[in-house]
Amino acid sequence: MKKSGKGKPGIDVTPAPGKKLLITDVALRDGHQSLLATRMRTEDMLPIAQKLDAIGYWSLEVWGGATFDTCLRFLKEDPWERLRALRAAMPNTKLQMLLRGQNVVGYRHYADDVVERFIERSSTNGIDVFRIFDALNDIRNLEHAVRCVKDQGKHVEASFCYTVSPVHTLDSFVDLAKRLEDLGTDTLCIKDMAGLLAPMDAYQLVRKLKAAVKAPIHLHSHYTSGMASMSSLMAVLGGLDILDTSMSPLAGGTSHPPTETMVAALRGTPYDTGLQLPRFIPIAEHFRTARKKYHQFESDFTGVDAEILTSQIPGGMLSNLAAQLAEQSALEKMRDVLEEVPRVRKDMGYPPLVTPSSQIVGSQATLNVLTGERYKVITTETKNYFLGYYGKPPGPVNKEVAARATGDERPVKGRPADRLEPELPAAITELAGKSMSPEDVVSLALFPAIAREFFDQREKGELKPEPLAPAPEAGPKVAHELHLAPIDFNVTVHGETYHIQVSGSGRKEEGRKPYYIRINDKLEEVQLEPIQEVLAGVPEAPETGDKAKPKRPKPSKPGDIASPMPGRVVKVLVAKGDKVKADDPVLIIEAMKMENRLPSPVAGTVATLYVHEGDDVKPDETLVQLE
Ligand code: MN
Repeated sequence: MKKSGKGKPGIDVTPAPGKKLLITDVALRDGHQSLLATRMRTEDMLPIAQKLDAIGYWSLEVWGGATFDTCLRFLKEDPWERLRALRAAMPNTKLQMLLRGQNVVGYRHYADDVVERFIERSSTNGIDVFRIFDALNDIRNLEHAVRCVKDQGKHVEASFCYTVSPVHTLDSFVDLAKRLEDLGTDTLCIKDMAGLLAPMDAYQLVRKLKAAVKAPIHLHSHYTSGMASMSSLMAVLGGLDILDTSMSPLAGGTSHPPTETMVAALRGTPYDTGLQLPRFIPIAEHFRTARKKYHQFESDFTGVDAEILTSQIPGGMLSNLAAQLAEQSALEKMRDVLEEVPRVRKDMGYPPLVTPSSQIVGSQATLNVLTGERYKVITTETKNYFLGYYGKPPGPVNKEVAARATGDERPVKGRPADRLEPELPAAITELAGKSMSPEDVVSLALFPAIAREFFDQREKGELKPEPLAPAPEAGPKVAHELHLAPIDFNVTVHGETYHIQVSGSGRKEEGRKPYYIRINDKLEEVQLEPIQEVLAGVPEAPETGDKAKPKRPKPSKPGDIASPMPGRVVKVLVAKGDKVKADDPVLIIEAMKMENRLPSPVAGTVATLYVHEGDDVKPDETLVQLE
């Protein structure tokens, strides 16, 4: 961070008269999104809703971000029903959501009609405050959403993503804030998604913002680096109006400062929140118990992650990278990927690392390491980034990399969404004649494949959430549970106790199956034979996808095209008999939420296609065979 002031900052702790800090609690959205991979179910929210509603928060963040996708994809809950249930249970508190600007609650730009209908439906179903951000801080990506929220008569909270880079200064954020105020924002949010905002900078930034804009300032700071409580306090002293915190059992780690601690810290001061500490006790008890149910989703990166202070990689992204590498059985490459991330970020002009730019940078960095050559495989998203489809990069990009990524295509100049045709008509047509709600149309427009699967299962009465692993306290697990979920137990040998966690299993090959096991937190890969006999009588986890697909052979010659990573086939670009040149894309594979073009390594004629669109694929399978 370039300091814009000179010398020591003067700290003025005199509050404005009548100053009282307002609190937004994020436990029901960002708290469990950060700590439990967004898996908390509505059934664990409703029993405590009435007590939360009685606290006197400025708002409760309950929806948006990843909750929408996760509800449909994993929990098999209708996200709209969750919103209506929370609205009914909490009539006295403003309900807040996180909206990714033109990306809505997804990972790409949607057309304006989808943004508009989504906001209208969210507003009708119960959202009062829309916090809106854009990953690149490109204001053109916020304009339309801000207008739509205004049209609904709801509260706009435009945000800028705080980050640290050679092109980001405190004054550059003040300039952004002024432009967001010109857009008509009601409050203004500093979104410190990686916990990079240092305490003194927090003080200076809020002071500068208070001098430059009239809109009340709201701080959202993640705890990842361990600075958030200090930065929050300094921001309060600098004149902050509203602070995000999370109920203590869902605070700390990659989440936020604990609500109760901040309330207690300011008690009896001129910044007193006015909230009653004893009222938090039963709520904390509820969340403490609820969290245990989701232990399988706990991230490995707990406590304070000092590394982020140098790598600037947000906690959510760290756990995603680790999960991607574990899927590839390449967790030992984590160090290389962490070193590659800042290089890719520089090549891309220093985008803040937040959804979706964190996925774009993270996946590209992972590919650069796994393929052994930087930018050998370029994701569709990386290409689209350099084409300007996500907006304007904050700083200059690496021209060579950009040219390689974009090829013959010309970058777009105007507002990225201007090139998009309306997307609702297709969703409306698809659902015509079926008994579907207006909300279903929006779900389909946002996540077509996942929504179709959800509707289909709902119609058949087969909506089943992914299974939860039994609580670790329940004692050692028997072998037949291995394929369902991670397990966790202690083994004592000669008086020494080892903590064993089975964190995943690989593909069975030649009668042996690799298991990834943590022993006292060190990851080991073991090839288990004896256990194989036990497993032989156990059915494999059910396969999704096309049952009738031909068995895929192992790749054995250059014309056997395989995916470098497990994923799902989004598009088959060739047909039997087609002639392809070396480097021509043959398939688009979705992996790690990114679309990757799979190029042909050699020239040839397509002899056999082993995949259909929608199939799940693994790295050791031939997907397309060339002659
Ligand atoms: Mn957040």
